Amino acid sequence: MNHKKVIIIGAGVSGLCAGSYLQMNGYDTEIYELHDTPGGLCTAWDRKGYTFDFCIHWLMGSSPSDRFYGLWNELINMDTLEFVYHEIFFQIEDAQGNILRIFTDVDKLEEEMKRVAPEDNDLIEEFIGGVRKFIPFTFPLDKAPEVMNPLDGLKMMVRVLPFLRAFKKWEKMSAEEFASRCKNPLLKRGILEIFMPESSAFFLLMTLVSMHKKAAGYPIGGSLHFAKMIEERYIALGGKINYKSRVEKVIVEDDSARGIQLENGDSNRADIVISAADGYSTIFKMLGGRYVNEKLRDYYSGQSKKLKVFPSLVFVSLGVARTFDNEPHAMVFPLKKPLYIDDSMSYGNLSVRIFNFDSTLAPQGKTPITVMLGTYNHKFWVNLRKNDRATYNREKERIAAQVVDALEERLGNIKSTIEVVDVSTPASIIQYTNNWKGSFEGWQPSPGTMMLRMDKTLPGLSNFYMIGQWVEPGGGLPPAILSGRNVTQIICRKDNKKFRKQV
Ligand SMILES: Cc1cc2nc3c(=O)[nH]c(=O)nc-3n(C[C@H](O)[C@H](O)[C@H](O)COP(=O)(O)OP(=O)(O)OC[C@H]3O[C@@H](n4cnc5c(N)ncnc54)[C@H](O)[C@@H]3O)c2cc1C
Repeated sequence: MNHKKVIIIGAGVSGLCAGSYLQMNGYDTEIYELHDTPGGLCTAWDRKGYTFDFCIHWLMGSSPSDRFYGLWNELINMDTLEFVYHEIFFQIEDAQGNILRIFTDVDKLEEEMKRVAPEDNDLIEEFIGGVRKFIPFTFPLDKAPEVMNPLDGLKMMVRVLPFLRAFKKWEKMSAEEFASRCKNPLLKRGILEIFMPESSAFFLLMTLVSMHKKAAGYPIGGSLHFAKMIEERYIALGGKINYKSRVEKVIVEDDSARGIQLENGDSNRADIVISAADGYSTIFKMLGGRYVNEKLRDYYSGQSKKLKVFPSLVFVSLGVARTFDNEPHAMVFPLKKPLYIDDSMSYGNLSVRIFNFDSTLAPQGKTPITVMLGTYNHKFWVNLRKNDRATYNREKERIAAQVVDALEERLGNIKSTIEVVDVSTPASIIQYTNNWKGSFEGWQPSPGTMMLRMDKTLPGLSNFYMIGQWVEPGGGLPPAILSGRNVTQIICRKDNKKFRKQV
């Protein structure tokens, strides 16, 4: 049989998922990836016996109580993964020693919030009422919106209708706006720490809903292990991955994508090209900005009122030769002096993740600890790394030293047990994943973006698609698999093929 050839740019989760579904549907696919490992942002790295996990805090669809479970299970055997469901999502502390525990069980969370902030009783009931409202809600996932017929649309409407009013209320409000109504400062900070302050409050509610339903666990083995499982499936389905192969250009003839050209000059032709890579470099570099409209120009102007990019990260990882049996796995605590990151960001609190729940990431008796510090000043870090490596390293050391001091003060017995200190910066994110501005998750789920559907095609260009976090506002792993699955349905429909989700 004459199979169509599809080239996919990027072996992140969306690229690997698209490749797997396309292989199932009789396409010959080949992935080109600039790095030497799969996963893109869904990654981890090893340092002296410790694995520092970058990505998965929670994986939506970790249990059959969520519809994403069925999707993951189409690609990997979910039974072989062990998931951890934390009782406490995170704990937040203030300088006076007050503690608010964000329980994953919604009843316990309500009780805890009311204990800490009785003055905010009504607001807490409104918030918890919002979480409870969406517990029975399930996302319709099976068919890509692009291939739905009027009957599918009607069925979806019937399913969504009971939630529409509540959805409209919460979706158009940011977490910041909701939190500003809290009288209690600790409750306010707790709400802001659930996700990004600028994100839609609906996103917060859905995160808590997934946790309450025990549908958003952490997979033992971590992010890279998870990505490698998808890579393994893709290869078993006959897919081919070319690592250390940076795509420089999409070859276009007569406004139709015909293949790719690599940085080293090599090229390869295909019937269809899919970019699962960064949106900015895809549109403005690999395609030279020739296939854009006003909407795309606005999104990528950096000033868009509709779409805002997730920040980049300075990410501090520590390997500590001790255990933390009695500490929560995630905590936010106040710093004695602010931690200056760069011109765009300074922190008064430290958000810490203690990997005391995954023994596969360090030898027995030892624990990895990570600290995520968001920043919008990727340029500072990229320029410093390029032009003044000594200062770049000194800045990393300065931040790490302050983090270690703060942990010593809060947890004790840190300095004498540290075996590894590792700091990655926005320059590292760009170097290893090429994401625009070093963003760690693409477009933020700000108010108004949940209903915003971005096209997977570009105006005027045929046989070309974009998938992944740059066309799925909110980003994350579930949209990555959905994006790869949906694009396969779109391609199958165009070729008059029935979409298959198994071999
Ligand atoms: C710190 C952190 C925490 C997160 N926590 C969670 C979480 O708890 N739950 C969750 O669901 N999501 C989480 N995410 C988000 C999630 O990891 C991402 O949204 C998702 O992995 C994006 O997948 P993607 O395939 O769309 O993009 P990417 O992962 O960015 O993949 C794109 C791939 O394309 C490659 N590429 C780019 N340009 C080129 C080129 N020119 N040539 C060849 N290859 C190229 C890149 O190297 C990369 O491998 C987190 C992310 C981070 C960083």
